[in-house]
Amino acid sequence: MSLLQSDCCPEVFVATGIEVGMGVEPTQHKTTTRQLGQTPARDISVTVHRYRGGDGPTVYVQAAQHGIELNGPAALRRLHNRLCDTKLAGTVIVVPVMNPLAFDARSYATPDEYDAQYPNVNRVWPGADDGSFQQQIVAELWSLAASADAAIDLHTGTPSMLEHVRVVEDDHKATALATAFGTNYRLIGDGPVSSQSPSEVSYTGNRDETSNADGSVRKTQDGEDNRYTQPAETFRIAMTRAQIPTITVELGNSRTVDRSVAERGAIGVCRVLRQRGMLTESGMLTDQLPEPPTQHQLKDDIPVSITPASGLFEPAANCTVGSKVTDGETLGVVYDPTTFEEHATIVAPGSGVIYSLSHGGTVFAGERVASIATPIGD
Ligand SMILES: [Zn+2]
Repeated sequence: MSLLQSDCCPEVFVATGIEVGMGVEPTQHKTTTRQLGQTPARDISVTVHRYRGGDGPTVYVQAAQHGIELNGPAALRRLHNRLCDTKLAGTVIVVPVMNPLAFDARSYATPDEYDAQYPNVNRVWPGADDGSFQQQIVAELWSLAASADAAIDLHTGTPSMLEHVRVVEDDHKATALATAFGTNYRLIGDGPVSSQSPSEVSYTGNRDETSNADGSVRKTQDGEDNRYTQPAETFRIAMTRAQIPTITVELGNSRTVDRSVAERGAIGVCRVLRQRGMLTESGMLTDQLPEPPTQHQLKDDIPVSITPASGLFEPAANCTVGSKVTDGETLGVVYDPTTFEEHATIVAPGSGVIYSLSHGGTVFAGERVASIATPIGD
């Protein structure tokens, strides 16, 4: 069954499997369009896929909250081809492009023309019916996401970031999802810190992809946010608050479609479905799934490394993502590219593993250049 066929008949379930087993039935797939908002001239909507089998849990998967993060949709295309040809217990809901405004603009954040107050959509969950433009958009999607028993939020990282899954500390159900997904690294961070409204919630360290934790926003030439626009909640934190186990996956790098990364992403989602008991053990899909690797745990408890000065950042020769550094070790220097005057030496704020590091390039004061996390149990 092709996606095109189901698009032509969006309200018709299409049987794609062959056999019917106990609790597991051939997958039926349909796509719908969910309107999230309206600009002065057009509707803002997302495409929603539903893969429905027999009785079982519901897993929600979304990608491209940030418009330059392309491996998520590429992974979900591969997941689509797998799910349409298998049996399933339960339902998988997929939103491949959660933020079409940023996606079409080829921008990390939503263009300021739509919501200058909250350009980063992954800071306004669960949204607000009477909030800003993006808060209202998120509120329209929240009820769908919150109907699930578990969720996966697909992102990509900076050009130099370890592929990893992020979970809230002591969230054992989410940890099980992360282990099943099977990236080499699991980054463990803090969860919700209060019961206040999202706009009042402070954030204590479980930082998301390319952001820092120190307040305001600055955009680089790449258009990526390097600081928070406001203290608020990510999708994962909001879902955790709603007691729905959720993982954030950083699938390779932004702005590119990496075939091997996309394949790992599809396999990772399938392993999560298997972990939730949604795939039959005798099914073709399950048999083809490779076992996940042993996952290294990192605690996201070290402040990010921020340059105090603008200039040209050049990482130290021995510093790469995945390497271990000690407290105070030099990560790189920032210097004036015209006079060669050295403005700052960036040193590791703690001992640990570098999970994100700028390749080097122009930086502005206050911009993140590296992130280090503490290894656990290795
Ligand atoms: Zn992202």
